[in-house]
Amino acid sequence: MERYVDKGIKKYYDVIIIGGGISGASVAYEAASQGLKVALFEKGDFGAATSAATTKLIHGGLRYLKNLEFGLVRESLMERRILENIAPNFVYPLPFMVPTYKNFKNNKQILLTGMLLYDVLSFDKGFTKDKSKKLPHFKMLSKEKVKTAEECVKVKGLTGASVYYDCQSIFPERLTLAFIKSAIKYGADVANYSKVTSFIHENNMIKGVNVKDLILEKEYEIKAPLTINCAGPWVDIVLNSADISDNKHIIQRSEGIHIITKKLCNKHSVTVMTKSGRHIMLMPWRNYSLIGTTDKEYNGNPDNYKVTKESVLELIDDVNENYNVKLKYEDVIFTYGGLRPLVDDQTEGSYETSRKYEIFDNAKDKLDGLITVEGGKYTTSRQLAINVQKLIDKKLHRKNKRTITRNEFLAGSEIPDIEKFIDELHVEYKDFSSQSIEYLGRNYGTECHKIFELARKNKKLNELVSADGEILAEVEYAVKNEMAFTLSDILFRRTGIGTLGYPGKEIFDKVVNYASELLNWDDNRKNREIEIVMQILELPKE
Ligand SMILES: Cc1cc2nc3c(=O)[nH]c(=O)nc-3n(C[C@H](O)[C@H](O)[C@H](O)COP(=O)(O)OP(=O)(O)OC[C@H]3O[C@@H](n4cnc5c(N)ncnc54)[C@H](O)[C@@H]3O)c2cc1C
Repeated sequence: MERYVDKGIKKYYDVIIIGGGISGASVAYEAASQGLKVALFEKGDFGAATSAATTKLIHGGLRYLKNLEFGLVRESLMERRILENIAPNFVYPLPFMVPTYKNFKNNKQILLTGMLLYDVLSFDKGFTKDKSKKLPHFKMLSKEKVKTAEECVKVKGLTGASVYYDCQSIFPERLTLAFIKSAIKYGADVANYSKVTSFIHENNMIKGVNVKDLILEKEYEIKAPLTINCAGPWVDIVLNSADISDNKHIIQRSEGIHIITKKLCNKHSVTVMTKSGRHIMLMPWRNYSLIGTTDKEYNGNPDNYKVTKESVLELIDDVNENYNVKLKYEDVIFTYGGLRPLVDDQTEGSYETSRKYEIFDNAKDKLDGLITVEGGKYTTSRQLAINVQKLIDKKLHRKNKRTITRNEFLAGSEIPDIEKFIDELHVEYKDFSSQSIEYLGRNYGTECHKIFELARKNKKLNELVSADGEILAEVEYAVKNEMAFTLSDILFRRTGIGTLGYPGKEIFDKVVNYASELLNWDDNRKNREIEIVMQILELPKE
C-alpha cells in the first residue's frame, strides 16, 4: 500500500471520497472497479472510527423483524452471504442462542415465528462458494440442553432456547483495510491522516476539496466533479464546512460500547433482552468474551468521544441482571465504543430506529457536486456503495455497469476453500506454531506468506506477541506494507495485539521498541505514542 503523495500528487479525479471507514472504503472499491479515477482521504486511520466499534457481526439482524423491516433484513442476509464468499478468511458462521422465558417478551412462540421468518428470508444461506460457510437452519432447544450448552444463561423462568446462525467478522478493522486494498488494486489513490478541511466552490457547485496531509503537514487542492461525504458521525460537520449558506446541518449521535472479559460463554453468542427492551450479546471471540452493545445519546463533538466508566458500569449491570454471571469492573480487560449517526427522525428511542443507510444528493441543499452517505450497518456497506455508484453514474452521465464486487474476492482473500488453505499452511510452515498459522492465515489471508517469510529471514520476528499466536513480523509488515504510522495503528488495527487489552510489559515493550526503530521515533515521539495508546488500553477512570 502506498499513500497517494508517494505516487506523485494528481490534481484531478472523477470522484473524491471523504472518510476511510467501511462506507468510504466500499464506495472507493466500487467506483474504482467501475473504471473511475478515485481519491479517498481519511483524517485518522482507515477504519478507526465507527467501523472499529462494531459488535463484529455480519448479520441480517433478527431484531429488525420486530419493526417489520423485511427489506433491510433481506438485504443484510444477502450481503452476509456475499461477504462470506468474497472475504472467506474474515467472515465465519457463529451460532446464536436466544433463551426463552415464561414472560411474554421472551416467549417461545413469538421467537419461533421470528426464526421461521428469518429462515425464509435467508433462503440462499446454503449457496455459499465454500461449503464451510453454509449456515444451518435454526433449531429449538429444551431447558435442560440449554443449561448444559451455556452456563451463562440465567435459569430462573427459563423454558428453552432457539439456536440460529449469523456470521462473525473476526477483525472488522482488517476487513475495512481489505476493501481499501481492493480499491487500490483498481487504481484508487488513498491516504490516511489526510483531513478534508474545506471545499472548492466554483459557479455554485462543489468542484473538489482542500486536504491537509497530517503526516507531511502540507496542503493540497484536489478537484473532481463529485465528492462523496462518507464521514460517519462527522457527516454534519463535513456538510457544514461545505455549506456557505446559513443552513446548518445537525445530526444526533448515539454511543454503543463493548467490553472484553475472560471467556464466559461456550460457543454461542448468547442474546438476551434487557428490561428496557434492548438486546445484548455475550459471545466468544479470540478465546475471550465480547459483550455489547449499548445505545445512549451522545451530545459532544465526535472528536472528543471516549468510553466512560459510567457506560461500562451500566453495561455490567445489564450483564449481571440478565446472565448467570457476576461481573465486576476489574474483570473487564478491554473496552471500546463508537458513535452511530442518527438521521433527523431518529432522535427519540434510537435503539428502535432503523439501521438502514441513507444516500443524499446535496444538490437539493444547493451543494451540487456533493453526495452525503450515512452508513447504517457494516454488513450492508457494499450494497450501499452500489447504490451510491448508481447516483454517481447518473450525475456523471455514465452508463451504469454491472458490479464485479459481488463475486470477486477482496484483495488478500483469494481463498476458495478456507479450511484447505489453513491445512496447507500447516504443511508449508511447520517451523511456526499451530496458533500462529491459524491466526495469520485467517487475519492476513493470502498475505500471510509475506509475514512468514519475514519471520523466516529474521528469527527475532518469530517471537510471539499475543496469546493467540501473533508474531513480531506483523509489526514490520504493518509499517512497511500497510500504511501504519502510529502505535495505535499497529496495536489496534493492523495487528490485534492491543484489542485484548494490555498485553503485558514484556510484549508491549518489544512491540513499542520495534515500531519505534522502524518509524525512527525519538524519545519524545515514542513517549507520546505510548501515552496515547495507554489511554485506550487502560479502563476509563471516570
Ligand atoms: C456500537 C456499534 C456496534 C455496531 N455493530 C455492528 C455490527 O455488529 N454489524 C454491522 O453490520 N454494523 C454494526 N454497526 C454499524 C457500523 O459500525 C456502521 O454502519 C459503519 O461502521 C459505518 O461506517 P462509516 O464508514 O459510515 O463510518 P466510520 O467508520 O465512522 O468512518 C467515517 C470516517 O470518516 C472520517 N472523517 C471524518 N471527517 C473527515 C474529514 N474531514 N476528512 C477526512 N476524513 C474524515 C473519520 O475519521 C472516520 O474514519 C455498529 C455500530 C455501532 C456504533
